[in-house]
Parts: sequence; C-alpha cells; structure tokens
Amino acid sequence: MYIVATPIGNLEDMTFRAVRILKEADLIAAEDTRHSRRLLNHFGIAGHLTSYFDHNKSLKGEYLLERLRDGAHVALISDAGTPCISDPGYQLVRDAVAAGIAVVPIPGASAAVTALSASGLPTDSFTFAGFLPSKQGKRREKLAQLRDEGRVVIYYEAPHRLPAALADLLEVCGERQIVVARELTKLYEEFVRGSVTEVLASFAHREVKGEIVLLVAPAEEVAAPVDSDELLNRYLADPNLSFRDTVSMVAAETGVPRSEIYGRALELRKTLP
Ligand code: SAM
Repeated sequence: MYIVATPIGNLEDMTFRAVRILKEADLIAAEDTRHSRRLLNHFGIAGHLTSYFDHNKSLKGEYLLERLRDGAHVALISDAGTPCISDPGYQLVRDAVAAGIAVVPIPGASAAVTALSASGLPTDSFTFAGFLPSKQGKRREKLAQLRDEGRVVIYYEAPHRLPAALADLLEVCGERQIVVARELTKLYEEFVRGSVTEVLASFAHREVKGEIVLLVAPAEEVAAPVDSDELLNRYLADPNLSFRDTVSMVAAETGVPRSEIYGRALELRKTLP
C-alpha cells in the first residue's frame, strides 16, 4: 500500500514518483473522488478511484485490506497534502501493518512542515497539535495543555475561527511570538509574523480567508534578575579585583546604572570584615 502525498495548492508540487505510483496502482483510495479525479486528470492518470473518508473508513478499510491481501497495489491519497496527517488513513495503515502488508510512503507536501520551514521560528524540534477544537471551552483547554510546551506548536485552524483562536491564545497563554501561514503555495500565500496582539491587529480590518497554519513560539524565557548585592559582595571580597572593576562589572552584569552600583558598593564595603 502506498501513502501518496499530493500538492497543498500548487500542482507543480506533485512529485514524479507520486504520478508514477498513482498510474501503476490497481486502486486509488481518495477522500473525495470528484476532487481527486481533477488532480488525476491533470496528470493524465486514468486510475480506478474509490472513496475512503472518515464516515466509511471502517467498512471501506476492510474492503481495501482484502484487496491488498489479494495482491492489489492500493494507493491512498487525501484531498491535499500527506494522507493520515489530520486526514483519514491512520487506521488503514495500522491494520495493514498488523496484517503484514508493506506500507510505502511517497513523500511530498504537508502544510505543517511547509509552514514551519519558512516561519523563522526554531525548527530543531516542534509539536504538531492538529486542528484546534471549534468550541471555545475545548479550544482553551487544548491551548492550556500546551501552554508550557518548550517547543514551537503547530496548529491547523479554519480561517473564520482565527480571530477567536488568537484571542483565546492571548488569554490562555499570554503574549507570544506567532506566525500565521496562509494559503501556502498558492497565489495569495502570506506569512504574518509578530506577537499575538500584532497579528490580531493585522487581521482586524479584513476577512480572514483561505487555509491557515498557526505556529506558536514557546513563552520567552525571562532571565532571573541578577542580585546585585550578592555580586557586589562576591567581587568586593575578591582580592584580585579593584573597587573600580567591581563597580563596572556589576553594573554591566545587572544593567543597574553605574552610579547606583557605586553608592551601594561603598555601603557594602563598610560591612566587609
Ligand atoms: N493532510 C494535510 C497536510 O498534510 O497538510 C492536511 C489536511 S487538513 C484536513 C487541512 C488543513 O491543513 C487546512 O484546514 C489548513 O489548516 C491546513 N492546510 C492545508 N493546505 C494548506 C495551505 N495551502 N496553506 C495553509 N494551510 C493549509
């Protein structure tokens, strides 16, 4: 069974391998067969299509597994991007693996990784959290669960819910750096980067349209304030440091004005043994 990624908007993102595998497949399982027929026609793929979507996946899964066991080559595609990623397919893959059927991924576009790659946010590790719930209570719960996540969190969100989701994000998680990646790979592709407040302001006077990926940076670490008295005591007690150097160093390390540190250093010096 082949898990075949298809473009998320720009047909030029279809891979040569995806076209070949779909041409060679005995059966192509697709979420929306009418939608996928247009894609297949564009690439001259005649393929036999059958539907596989959320509400028929148990029954259809059985049928597909039967065909696979009989030796058929089945390709799974979704409406856009990589199947199984916020799209149907996971149970079929799980059952195929359990039945000893080879599962071969044919990689290509996925909105989450596409958005992350150009977001400008740290990419070394991240969390993909799928769709935010549409109901406010559940949405806030999900946001709260990931409030202390130390990595970038990637959400999928519907355009008409974006303002409400950002308002909830601000309330539940506080100010963050975020990126809204809209209409990726399409004509009106847009990245809106900034704090939650700035991004909300940017969408305040226009209708949010198209497909959206929301990326949320972790809370910025606030450096613990440096205790200037502790530093002063330590440096004043160091015979290798002059009074002048002590004042300069503590002012630089704490960001407290030099004159203030100087006065405090004089006081503390009197208390030293
Ligand atoms: N399987 C797909 C993938 O690999 O990205 C995701 C399918 S999920 C049902 C659809 C959601 O993905 C959209 O609601 C949107 O949040 C996001 N998405 C898909 N295409 C997009 C695009 N071109 N630009 C921005 N977001 C997109």
